[in-house]
Amino acid sequence: MKYLGRLAPTPTGYLHLGHASTFSIAHRRAREAGGRLLLRIEDLDPLRCRSEFSDAAMEDLRWLGIEWDGDPVFQSHRRAHFLEVWQRLKSAGRIYPCQRSRREISTLAPHEEDPIFPIEWRSSQDAAERYSGPGGVNWRFRVPDGLVVNFYDQNLGYVEKVAQRDFGDFLVWNRDDVPAYELAVVADDTAMGITEVVRGADLLTSTARQILIYEALEARPPAFYHCPLVCDQEGRRLAKRSGGLSIRELREAGKNPKEIFRMAGLG
Ligand code: GLU
Repeated sequence: MKYLGRLAPTPTGYLHLGHASTFSIAHRRAREAGGRLLLRIEDLDPLRCRSEFSDAAMEDLRWLGIEWDGDPVFQSHRRAHFLEVWQRLKSAGRIYPCQRSRREISTLAPHEEDPIFPIEWRSSQDAAERYSGPGGVNWRFRVPDGLVVNFYDQNLGYVEKVAQRDFGDFLVWNRDDVPAYELAVVADDTAMGITEVVRGADLLTSTARQILIYEALEARPPAFYHCPLVCDQEGRRLAKRSGGLSIRELREAGKNPKEIFRMAGLG
């Protein structure tokens, strides 16, 4: 099978050093394998994503020398496909409508970024039958209690995540009628025929969740390669919000791509 990778930026801000690192590794792995690399813009959330950030991401990637093959794919154009996947998961009895709000869940564990959804809050098995479409309510994946998910990471070796300890029933579709990241990414990686997913190690738990979606869809998961996270001088993980270290600001400050990759911990 020929290598097919992808770059998958979410256009909610400018690319930063973390993206430069992950995307450069993705680019290198595709080229070394003699394969192809696609660009998928993950612009599903209309409130947070902006086309000026998609344009800026493409410009920054080109400036860094990270090329992709073919035309970019925009997730915002692929709703029909995500709906089909939602329907399949619903028909298979793997997802359920959930009336609990994000706020209710976060009051359970106010200090946790991503608190585990309590099993007692699950809807009954037949609750999904009343819905012909996903809008108006959150939808969650029913994760088998205590399930151990193992996978081999091409960079980190064997990884193990345990249901109810590391993650719980997770969102696949949002109340505001936007597909959730976990569903959209599996739907697209499958449809596009991606053979290896290269992304940041902050998404390791997401990978475990996504493996459950692949199983539910009877699809074969791709290989995974999780990259180390880039931290600032204080050792804090770089996030889009932290500012100051966006590729364009560094470029305007006179840095060249080589210096940027060095700052990102490469070479
Ligand atoms: N769009 C995601 C992000 O920017 C990455 C998704 C992925 O690589 O699976 O964090």
